[in-house]
Amino acid sequence: MNGCTNRNYTSLVTLAIFLARVALLSVCFLVVLGTPSTASNPGTVESTGELLHYGDLRSASPPNQMFIESAPNGGGYWIATQEGVISVFGDAGSYGDLAEINLNKPIVGMGSTPSGLGYWLVASDGGIFTFGDAQFFGSAPGQNSNSDFIEILTSRLTSGYALVSATGEVLNFGDMELEGRNSCSLTPVGSASSSAGGVLFLRVNTQPETGSITAESGPLDSEFLDNLLDHAQQCETDSSDLVGFLSPVADAKITSSFGLRNHPIWKQPLFHGGTDYVSASEIYDGTINAAKTGTVVGVFDLVAYGRTVVLGHGSKLATVYAHLKNSQVIVGEAVEIGQVIGRMGSTGASTGPHLHFEIRVSGLVRNPAPLLDE
Ligand SMILES: [Zn+2]
Repeated sequence: MNGCTNRNYTSLVTLAIFLARVALLSVCFLVVLGTPSTASNPGTVESTGELLHYGDLRSASPPNQMFIESAPNGGGYWIATQEGVISVFGDAGSYGDLAEINLNKPIVGMGSTPSGLGYWLVASDGGIFTFGDAQFFGSAPGQNSNSDFIEILTSRLTSGYALVSATGEVLNFGDMELEGRNSCSLTPVGSASSSAGGVLFLRVNTQPETGSITAESGPLDSEFLDNLLDHAQQCETDSSDLVGFLSPVADAKITSSFGLRNHPIWKQPLFHGGTDYVSASEIYDGTINAAKTGTVVGVFDLVAYGRTVVLGHGSKLATVYAHLKNSQVIVGEAVEIGQVIGRMGSTGASTGPHLHFEIRVSGLVRNPAPLLDE
C-alpha cells in the first residue's frame, strides 16, 4: 500500500469519526438543553467597551473552529464556523454563507468590508469566498505558497485583504500592504492581527487528540504526525536519498510488518503504518536508538502511539518511535545516529513491550523494513 492510499484511508476514517461525533454531540445537546450554561459553552460571546452582546452561537459543536468578526459600526457581529456557516447577530447584515456547499478545505478566517455590507471567508488553502459588497482581489491557490493559511486581515481604511499562512507569510491583495514574517520555525502561526500598518503573529503548537483509545485513535495520531511534519518540513526540499538507516533496536526481531493487518486489539483490518520490533534477546525495556542523525521534532503522549519521539533528518525525511516506556530527548535537540532516545515500552494501544517504528517521507509512511536492511 503506498502513501497516497494511506492518506485516503485516514480521511475516510476522519470522516467516520466526524459523523460519529456529530451523532454523539446531538445526544449530548439534547441532554443539556434544559440547563443553560455560561462561559464554558463553546460559542459563547462576551463583549467589552461600547460593544453590546447580541447573542451566542449555542449550537456549535465543541471541536469545531469558529471565528467572530465585529460589524464596523459596532452594532453587531458575525460568527463563522469552519464549515462556512455564518450566524448573524445585532444589526450586522446577512449576505449569505457556505452552508449549502461541501468544502474541501475548512474555513479559517473571516473579514468584514470597510462598509460592513459584506465579508470575505478564507479557506485553509487560501481560497476566497466573497459575500455582499466584498470584492474578489485574488486568492492564494496558484501563488506557490507551501503552507496552510490561518487568517484573513482586513482594514477599515483600505480596500483589499491580506492572507496569513502558518509560516508567517503574508499575501497582500487589493491595496493592502502588510509585511510578513516568514520563518521556518517549528511552531506554526495560529493567529494574526493587524493595526497601524503592522501585523502581530501568535505562534501556537498544535495539540494532538486526547481521550479514550478507540480503533480510530491510531489513524488520528498518524494524521497528527502527518500535519506536524507538513509544517516542520516546509522549508526542506524532497530527496530520494533513503539510505543509511540504523536499526533502532539492537538484535531486532519483527513482530508485525508494514501494511494492512488484522489489528491485535481492535480485531479488524487496519493499515499498519510502521514495523513493530522486539528484542530477539528478550530485553523488554532496552534502549531505542536514533535510526539516523537528525533533530528532535516532537515528543508526545499520543492516544494510540503512546509516548512518541519524532526525529527530523532533513529532506522531508522523518522517523517515528512509538509506545516508548520513556523518552530521553527534548524538542529541538540534535541527535546522532545510534544515540539513545528512550526505552522500549508498551504505552498507548499496545499488547506488550515493543517498538512501533515508522519512516516518513513528506509526512507519509514508507515500509521501514527494506530500508533498514541496506
Ligand atoms: Zn506498530
